Amino acid sequence: MTTTTASHAADLVAALLFILSLAGLSQHRTSRAGVVYGIAGMALALVATIVLAAQSITAGAVALIVLAMVLGGAAGLWRARRVEMTQMPELIAVLHSFVGLAAVLVGWNGYLEVEAHGSAQTLVSADLLGIHHAEVFIGIFIGGVTFTGSIVAFLKLSARIASRPLTLPGKNILNLGALAAFAGLTAWFTAGPGLGLMVAVTVLALLLGWHLVASIGGGDMPVVVSMLNSYSGWAAAAAGFLLDNNLLIVTGALVGSSGAYLSYIMCRAMNRSFISVIAGGFGIEAPSGGDEEQGEHREVRAEEAAGLLAQARSVVITPGYGMAVAQAQHPVAELTRRLRERGVEVRFGVHPVAGRLPGHMNVLLAEAKVPYDIVLEMDEINDDFGKTDVVLVIGANDTVNPAATDDPTSPIAGMPVLRVWEAEQVIVFKRSMASGYAGVQNPLFFRENSTMLFGDAKQSVDAILQALPGDARTTTDRPVRQHTTAG
Ligand code: NDP
Repeated sequence: MTTTTASHAADLVAALLFILSLAGLSQHRTSRAGVVYGIAGMALALVATIVLAAQSITAGAVALIVLAMVLGGAAGLWRARRVEMTQMPELIAVLHSFVGLAAVLVGWNGYLEVEAHGSAQTLVSADLLGIHHAEVFIGIFIGGVTFTGSIVAFLKLSARIASRPLTLPGKNILNLGALAAFAGLTAWFTAGPGLGLMVAVTVLALLLGWHLVASIGGGDMPVVVSMLNSYSGWAAAAAGFLLDNNLLIVTGALVGSSGAYLSYIMCRAMNRSFISVIAGGFGIEAPSGGDEEQGEHREVRAEEAAGLLAQARSVVITPGYGMAVAQAQHPVAELTRRLRERGVEVRFGVHPVAGRLPGHMNVLLAEAKVPYDIVLEMDEINDDFGKTDVVLVIGANDTVNPAATDDPTSPIAGMPVLRVWEAEQVIVFKRSMASGYAGVQNPLFFRENSTMLFGDAKQSVDAILQALPGDARTTTDRPVRQHTTAG
């Protein structure tokens, strides 16, 4: 077998491993195996690429590639080991920006090697030259949009800039105009490539990426993160065409299509228009809701909360970003265990965009070994709140905000939320009356059946654990409220 054939075979195996990885990652139970498949596929792909490249480049160049990989790998390992779970979305946004930047550089490299070379026909056959021109241009465009879009997403997710949408006058016209300009420039470039056009498309893509993501507001950011994931896949696929690397094309297409599908599912879960979000908030009006307080709130102490829980028959816990910040998942899991031992039915209601990345809460709860079968999705639990004695809202805010259903002017209007207020008692764990990610006040805090348990969520849950009566309750201690099914 020649090195080329072996390398193509390795590409095929790596592509299959990536598909197995995606399949594995789609379920908790198989996610570890999914990660291992992904690592194996990437290791194989890297080795195969270097072995193939070594045939046509000098040993010094191979050494440089290996050096770059060692440096990049070390930096990646260092960062990934230090990153907090709550910073994962920011890290992912930064990594997407690298893919975008790489696609821009590959595009420029393709131009410098072929179009700018003066003797393009000798390097690429005449039939394929037009396609090469288009590949260069499209690769740079997708890469540029991904690069600056991801940087804005990083800045918003890390709260370095405000998460509210930027509303430039005529923002939709600006976006549509940029797309039209790109189509025109591409036609021009394929007819007669030139440096000026290369600069123009690069600047256009960088500006459009910035504007698209800056125009999208707090509540829609989850979709933006998965949309940029998708763009980074398409940028990699575009680079694969230019580099004539089949594996990069397949991998890019896998990332691109799965990211697009995830964005679509998230839009559906949040009742948002997919087209409107990918078009930079096309047709979405500037929100009017603020974060002013809307009445009186009541406070509860940990001991009182423990007493309520000890008397409850059914409890639902709705975790949010604050649980991740506080790293409260372990005491929450312990509280769940203790309550279940006492005969209390405890379940979790997880909103699809709770936290700061898809599946954020599921990962934390799995880490704390909360049994999977009591962790329910929003649609599975929403009809049961009316039959629930106590809901513990642990660091969630936007995802339990009744304004989403009651106030059509709210920035999160129309987003389905966990209807926790239908329960008999709601205890909200947070540190202050501050608003959540979307920057809107939450009328839940001022409802008759809501009480606030102020403080760091981990410390509050620990305090409840301390205060929880140790002896298991008998059935006669239970409240008299009648229940139908509890799920
Ligand atoms: P929110 O971001 O709405 O609210 C989190 C709450 O946690 C805050 O009100 C904060 O209040 C509280 N909190 C923070 N730290 C602590 C702590 N140590 N102890 C106790 N409470 C704490 O959370 P949700 O999960 O409900 O909503 C997620 C939001 O993030 C949505 O708007 C979603 O659109 C957005 N988003 C989601 C992404 C995803 O993919 N899941 C990606 C990007 C954005 P206080 O400061 O008073 O303590």
